[in-house]
Amino acid sequence: MDTDGSEMPALDEREACFNYGYYMRCECGRNSYISADDYQANSCWSPAGSRSMSSVDAHMPCNHCDKSIHFGPGATTLRDQNDRALDSAQISQLAWYHTCTDSNWPSTTYADNRMAKLLADPIWSSQADNTNVDIKRLPDKALHVGTYEAAIENMLRRMSDQDDGAAQFYLHRVALSIDPDRVNARYRDENHEAAAQLTAADLHDAGFVAIRYINVRESAGSLSLALLPEAISCVQTIPLPAAAAAVTLKDPLLALLKQTQGQLDDLAAAAPDTSPFSSNQLGMMQLTGDEHDGLWSGIMTALIQHHLVNISPVIQEQFEDAMNAWLHAKEAPTVRQFADFFEANAAALTHSTAVKGLFATRKPRVITNGMSTQ
Ligand SMILES: [Zn+2]
Repeated sequence: MDTDGSEMPALDEREACFNYGYYMRCECGRNSYISADDYQANSCWSPAGSRSMSSVDAHMPCNHCDKSIHFGPGATTLRDQNDRALDSAQISQLAWYHTCTDSNWPSTTYADNRMAKLLADPIWSSQADNTNVDIKRLPDKALHVGTYEAAIENMLRRMSDQDDGAAQFYLHRVALSIDPDRVNARYRDENHEAAAQLTAADLHDAGFVAIRYINVRESAGSLSLALLPEAISCVQTIPLPAAAAAVTLKDPLLALLKQTQGQLDDLAAAAPDTSPFSSNQLGMMQLTGDEHDGLWSGIMTALIQHHLVNISPVIQEQFEDAMNAWLHAKEAPTVRQFADFFEANAAALTHSTAVKGLFATRKPRVITNGMSTQ
């Protein structure tokens, strides 16, 4: 299909917020609120040091009975009882979002590329005898869209959890065209039903083109949709991090960046000659050392304090993990390169209106038979 002249339908934007609290379901059947500050302060992270939300192991009082709630993803419930996405008739009026490393999502090659990447991982390739159910189902996975916040948080999680620290990501703004009668009533609870594992066959079998579910991993407590490709009418795409405004860092942050670069350069100059060793040997020798790590940690803290004002501490940690993944994936970036990358990514959280505004100039791709025509 010719995409020239095609227009993106007018879509309603929901205001993005990265400083939200959570609602947790008690055994008594009622819900209690916990702020992001309390969520983080009262969480006991796993001994392995993972800070992913799945490792939260802590309790909070129920506001309605004398039981305590074992809070975390397993108890997370709907954040906004008036969420517009609860109304099936409004789903196609809303702007939906998706992040991934494919600029042409949803494309015919995306599933194949993901499969190839998975099979290149030794952990998966050892199971690649076609008996592993998850691998076999992967190409048939339903498509997923969610709120803007869920899409951004999904990118952060993938950067730190899925070895995509230095990958180029894209933010897709998605227009849907869905018959309200072909969406499930209310929502699935991902706590009990693995919505992420839904396949296109599952939707076909149920007679749905979209299945609404609570997302407990990204923008926890928001509503996401598992889709058949035919539910998508148009997609606009921008690369992430989005082109941010000109960077004009000022002192004292600018001075700290320069000072730290000087200290890192001094450390590098004083380091022994490592050229006879392979990178594996160097890794075993842990030449980077505490002083080096401490300098980068100081920069990270300063950048968080400067750029992530009014961002929830839970999301600040997700962001920090993603930035660390980028640092580890890059070959010796300068402090300024890291600071610029940090700032450009922070804009997606702190200047969401400006980032969404970038879509105004993006020609939509019309999705025909579930695949991008471009
Ligand atoms: Zn209760």
